Amino acid sequence: MPPRFERTSLQFDTRVVRAGEEAPLSRTHAHAPPIHQTTAWEFETLAEVDAVWEGKAPGYIYRRYGGPNQAALEAAIASLEDAPDALALASGLGATLTAVLAHLRPGDQIVATAHIYGGTQRLFVERLAPLGIETRFVNIFDPAELDRAWSPQVRAVWVETMTNPTLRVADVPALAAIARERGALLIVDNTFATPVLCRPLGHGAHLVLHSATKYLGGHDDAMGGVLAGATDLITACRTAAVDLGPTLAPFEAWLLLRGLRTLALRMQRACANALALAQRLANHPAVATVHYPGLASHPEHALAARLLQGGFGAMVSFTVRGGQRAVSQLIETLRLIPFLPTLGGLTSSVMHPATTSHRHLSDGERERLGVTAGLLRLSVGIEDLDDLWRDLDRALSVVQ
Ligand code: PLP
Repeated sequence: MPPRFERTSLQFDTRVVRAGEEAPLSRTHAHAPPIHQTTAWEFETLAEVDAVWEGKAPGYIYRRYGGPNQAALEAAIASLEDAPDALALASGLGATLTAVLAHLRPGDQIVATAHIYGGTQRLFVERLAPLGIETRFVNIFDPAELDRAWSPQVRAVWVETMTNPTLRVADVPALAAIARERGALLIVDNTFATPVLCRPLGHGAHLVLHSATKYLGGHDDAMGGVLAGATDLITACRTAAVDLGPTLAPFEAWLLLRGLRTLALRMQRACANALALAQRLANHPAVATVHYPGLASHPEHALAARLLQGGFGAMVSFTVRGGQRAVSQLIETLRLIPFLPTLGGLTSSVMHPATTSHRHLSDGERERLGVTAGLLRLSVGIEDLDDLWRDLDRALSVVQ
């Protein structure tokens, strides 16, 4: 677009705020995507704004409604999740809130897995319940419990493909069949599996959610959340997001898309590392239990082998003998593997759910979910396997 003014005819104070606009910006044939760090887009005419507003012409209006960096990320996620449409937002919880408020009204109910990320559980209990959207938490691994919790008000079933932190695997096809038969939406938090291992929409889920902060971004430097699904369901989420405001910033969207480009390679390496570490941990005398869907001892090992492709995930949880004291010693002894309250980055890290993500629960609730004082969650990265094992083995030998 040529400039609409002669730069040389302008006074200094005007040039201070306008000079440089004539430099080519987005239409540069740049190979890497530019970052569109703007809050709004200019229009030449009323007819033009009208066409973009009504969706009759491509373009952007105001960043809360979307922008090129968000759109590029959304197109990539839709493609990877085999979805007609996707929406990118400022965080995983922002996406969770948006999905619920887009599709449920006061009086509607959610049936959610009790094995759920602590932040999602808090959002449902502390924020949505007072608005009249009640959640019943059930053991989704017990079909009778799901039946008992059901009511005509249930509008959504909420599960995680692999639960945080005990890594149980949800029977997505079976849950999708139940939800569809009873007229509810199945919403799957696919953060731990990623679309590399599982694409829940192909198994009958209605909406897929990710904390893009984790594997999709993969570098522990950007926060975001994404939703993917049918166009009508995502359009409702997009409208709700414009009203609610959890807008993804362009730089974050750019970082997430850049990180996403290596997702398949990262998952391949991290899953292979995770399986080997899970096997070694299972044979270590200082370790009482290992939770990993790739081990034959895992309660859903057969289901995981059917549902997940190309690996069993890159998260391994394990319980050390000696409870919280041993956990504390282990964390202080590890050198290569940091204690980090997140997951899914390039580097391996450990986390103690009882004192972080699940600390707001009562002792009894934590015990019921298997979130014991001795449980550690290991997010396995793409480092050399033997370096990782040396660090873990050395630290475990100290707590023995
Ligand atoms: N879902 C899962 C499984 C998570 O682990 C998390 C965060 O840890 C979230 C959702 C929330 O995502 P965010 O922290 O990006 O808001």
